[in-house]
Amino acid sequence: MVYRLKKDVWYVGRCCECGACISTCSKNILRSPRDGDHPELEVREKRIGSSHIVVDTCFFCEKPCEDSCPRLREWEKGQILHTVTVTSRLPDTSIVNALLIASIRRKLVDGAVTWDIDRETFKPIPKIVTREEEILTTSGYQYLWHPILEVLNDAIYKKGLKKIAVVGPPCIAQAVKAIRTSNNNKLKVYKNSIYLMIGVFCEGAYTQQLVQEIVDRFDINPYELNRLIMDIKNKVLRIVMQEGLMKGIPLPEIRRYMKQGCARCTDFTAECADISVGTIGLEEKGTMVIVRTPLGERSLKYAFMEK
Ligand code: SF4
Ligand code: SF4
Ligand code: SF4
Repeated sequence: MVYRLKKDVWYVGRCCECGACISTCSKNILRSPRDGDHPELEVREKRIGSSHIVVDTCFFCEKPCEDSCPRLREWEKGQILHTVTVTSRLPDTSIVNALLIASIRRKLVDGAVTWDIDRETFKPIPKIVTREEEILTTSGYQYLWHPILEVLNDAIYKKGLKKIAVVGPPCIAQAVKAIRTSNNNKLKVYKNSIYLMIGVFCEGAYTQQLVQEIVDRFDINPYELNRLIMDIKNKVLRIVMQEGLMKGIPLPEIRRYMKQGCARCTDFTAECADISVGTIGLEEKGTMVIVRTPLGERSLKYAFMEK
């Protein structure tokens, strides 16, 4: 039984749906959560004569699922080496993409797990990228949720990546730190493969119902959406359309679509990351970058060295 996950995370609404336990489960019995819910434990049965008994698949397991769960740890305040405000010269102006491209070019990492959007449905999808062209087509984190760490096994075993950068909000950075600091043998392969954590500011992620609300409210199609921007300072969700027009919804009006696990989240700036990136309001000139570790520093230095 995954007793602690169930009792202290799932059944008390604390799961942030990071997907770490799904990837690290040593028996591959955790399934991706439905939007806004926790992962599901696959029930396996054995037939004995004419009756079926439920097998306790977790028996004799080292429980890497629990050791990789960010919700079973208390997190101290993250360190800050220094803070800068920067702008990107990339066409999409993304600082995260600038860091990824520079880090791959200079072989700090050999690939990344990052965020993209299905353009037809505006559903978030995880993307494993190794080339600049791929990075430049990703949408980045759009405050819509996918348990992105569930693709770790694909990145390691299918793509053969050995030094992975992960992009994600604070809870993803916490899961990555839980893995990196764990002594659980079953987590060794993940610990050795995740090299750089790029955190993005986040004060809430939303279920796909938010997209439905936007579509209904403005009588538009999902494919007309370009990107979402959280304007925390003015408490407005900014919706950028494909043709560049911008619409807005006050944040209190979309709170009901926020993931349950976000309710008790207190980390806004990804304090467990190597480097954190984000903005607070649309009026801000540039993007704030918080360098937290020497590795984060190297990644930023490489980005500055790019032409
Ligand atoms: S206890 Fe082991 S088998 Fe059970 S869910 Fe966790 S990792 Fe998987
Ligand atoms: S590891 Fe992530 S997805 Fe799994 S229970 Fe913990 S918070 Fe939820
Ligand atoms: S508010 Fe917290 S739990 Fe929710 S997505 Fe952001 S970092 Fe994760």
